[in-house]
Amino acid sequence: MGLFEETKMNFFRKGAMDKVKWMENLNRTILPNQLKRIQQNDKRVLQELVLPKWVKWDLIYDWANSRKVPEGRMCILCNDHNENGIDFKEKYICEQCFFKLKNLE
Ligand SMILES: [Zn+2]
Repeated sequence: MGLFEETKMNFFRKGAMDKVKWMENLNRTILPNQLKRIQQNDKRVLQELVLPKWVKWDLIYDWANSRKVPEGRMCILCNDHNENGIDFKEKYICEQCFFKLKNLE
């Protein structure tokens, strides 16, 4: 579990629901380009963000990096991202699902 999840769990246990709520809404308050800059450890982005005092850089950095776009394309069957797969009837299917389908035939 990352720092972000751990911190959220702690607040939850302490009953600090306003903080838990804030953390859960983070993806709605931070713009995609700001997210990218947090991921790149560009602290200048802090000037644009309105963060509560208890929020430390490490916390949003951990959050941002757990939200990285997965590699590869999304398989229509399992919704997982995978670099190995094929286009099947104009849809992308990952290798694992493709083999499963093949075995069903
Ligand atoms: Zn799949």
